[in-house]
Amino acid sequence: MPERRLIETAAGALAERAVAAARGLTRDGHAIDDHQVVVERVAYAATEARVIGELAAAPAELAALATCAAAELAAAIRYRLAPVAPLLGLTTAYDAEAEAAIAAGIAPAAVERVGAAAIAARGRLGWALDEMLGEVRSNVRAFAEREVAPHAERIHRHDELVPERIIEEMAKLGYFGLSVPERYGGHELGNLAMVLTTEELSRVSLAAAGSLITRPEILAKALLAGGTEDQKQTWLPRLAAGEIMAAISVTEPNTGSDVAAVACRAEPTDGGWLISGQKAWCTFAGRADVIALLARTGAGGAKGLTLFIVDKPRFLGHEFAAAQPGGGTLTGKADRTPGYRGMHSFGLAFDRWFVPAAQLVGGDAGIGRGFALQMAGFAAGRLQTCGRACGLIQAAVEATASYVAERSQFGRPIGDYGLTRYQLGRMAARLVAARAISYAAAGEMDRDERAAATLAAMAKLFACDVAVEVTQLGQLLHGGWGYAEDYPISRYVADAQVLPIFEGVRPILALKVVGRALMAPRG
Ligand SMILES: Cc1cc2nc3c(=O)[nH]c(=O)nc-3n(C[C@H](O)[C@H](O)[C@H](O)COP(=O)(O)OP(=O)(O)OC[C@H]3O[C@@H](n4cnc5c(N)ncnc54)[C@H](O)[C@@H]3O)c2cc1C
Repeated sequence: MPERRLIETAAGALAERAVAAARGLTRDGHAIDDHQVVVERVAYAATEARVIGELAAAPAELAALATCAAAELAAAIRYRLAPVAPLLGLTTAYDAEAEAAIAAGIAPAAVERVGAAAIAARGRLGWALDEMLGEVRSNVRAFAEREVAPHAERIHRHDELVPERIIEEMAKLGYFGLSVPERYGGHELGNLAMVLTTEELSRVSLAAAGSLITRPEILAKALLAGGTEDQKQTWLPRLAAGEIMAAISVTEPNTGSDVAAVACRAEPTDGGWLISGQKAWCTFAGRADVIALLARTGAGGAKGLTLFIVDKPRFLGHEFAAAQPGGGTLTGKADRTPGYRGMHSFGLAFDRWFVPAAQLVGGDAGIGRGFALQMAGFAAGRLQTCGRACGLIQAAVEATASYVAERSQFGRPIGDYGLTRYQLGRMAARLVAARAISYAAAGEMDRDERAAATLAAMAKLFACDVAVEVTQLGQLLHGGWGYAEDYPISRYVADAQVLPIFEGVRPILALKVVGRALMAPRG
């Protein structure tokens, strides 16, 4: 059996035993909160085992990197489970054959070899695609390098808003409608095309272009899951055409992970609803034409929440105030952040802001369904974020491979040293692993959206952690220059930090999304 396959079998079996034992301990997930550390560790180990499985689909020319990645992940699973193994009655040892395959995969010589190859290729790692997807990727890459790259540093350093021209050009090229069905004005190219597009844009800039598709994508998926036919026909073509930009507003100053506790209220009035309350961290809320807003229409808990499409005027600054003829007001102020600049994330205050009845997602039947629709949207958003993470990782690998090839110390390029090659090898292997699970989740989402939700959450969990790790490692390999604003690696580090925070902050995503799904009784 090839090494990667041996590792996959052993790691998969260990993760399965851990999941089964954790399911018993938590009584099929009913007692997750009594065993949080166990569930978080098991969920993460199961995610890593899934990544190893998905590495089987890596193109043949990446086989050596895939084996390194699989070996490192299998070793990590054992380490991750060690503190909870006694509680689960688990032994974490692999059999001798698997141990030997893991040892060979993470051996310094093996990793240095792939690192040297990555340096020689200046970090440009391919991933063979079919003709249509290959064309999508190369077209987006050309667009990103021509239209976005020249603005990326300036937008980041001066915290400027994404230029309208980028939005207009992306709209013309159809980037906002990639996964929207054709009958609603989209291109229906599928989720992998959407992920690849996002990846190429994020490789150049996470905030100036890479994140623009996220919000339309989340709202489109929520509408497809629960909008009325009229709403789909009204909003989806406009979203797909980039005619309207959307923001997503769930988080509040006192409500983050516990989404069911959202307090901002919507009260019925003549012909619609009046929104009153505070929201937090609403990205792109200034420039957006509409906000997909989760508000309370009923009693406490998830069942009292409803999703609205709220119109608002465009504003281009860091602060805004709007008033409606009927007396409603909306104010917004952006919070300063070290990275993810260009879209700005706003605290919002609504006071009796009117929303027409037709903009309650799902119509009357949508009252109390907002939580479920928002979650459907987030599953797609997480997949989109996988593309964002992969783009940033690719950028960091390229920047670092070029830097270590050119920088000399002690009389030799630093890329000639074994330790540097080893680190580059790890970075490249992690990139292949992040792509493997992200692309698999995209394919699964095309086949069965509901079933894909857990895989998309696993992919988001993993790829975002890799983005943080690889950008930081890249920064270290740049030495002091990695901390200088003139080198883009410092921007990649600042941008990557946000990825494990939104769409389910890392511990909650592992515990309450992936963990909960894994602990549920098997059908
Ligand atoms: C730049 C940026 C942009 C954003 N954009 C948007 C946006 O466009 N729209 C939007 O709605 N939101 C947005 N968010 C908000 C983001 O989704 C939230 O920050 C995130 O969901 C976490 O919520 P919180 O910050 O309130 O953290 P909290 O929920 O307070 O969690 C903080 C920490 O507490 C711990 N914790 C919480 N609950 C538990 C528990 N039950 N068990 C164990 N540990 C727990 C975890 O370690 C967690 O990391 C954005 C955030 C940022 C930083």
